[in-house]
Amino acid sequence: MQPQLLCVEAACDYCGATLEITAAEVGGEKRLHPYACPQCTKTHAVECAGHPHVRVLRPRTDGKTNSYQETLF
Ligand SMILES: [Zn+2]
Repeated sequence: MQPQLLCVEAACDYCGATLEITAAEVGGEKRLHPYACPQCTKTHAVECAGHPHVRVLRPRTDGKTNSYQETLF
C-alpha cells in the first residue's frame, strides 16, 4: 500500500506567513503534532498521524524580523 500524504495549507496567525504542512499518513492514530513556524518560530499544531514537515509557501507579511515570544506568565 502506498503511504498517503496529508497536505494542508495553513496561515501563521502571528506573522502572516502561508505554510504548507505535509505528513505521511502511516497508519496509527491521528493526534496533534506541534510544529514551529519557520518564519517566526511560533508553535502551532496539526492533527495528523505522521511527523509533520513544514514548508513556507509565502513569507511573512508583518514586515518584521523578530521571533514570536511565548508569554509564560
Ligand atoms: Zn509565523
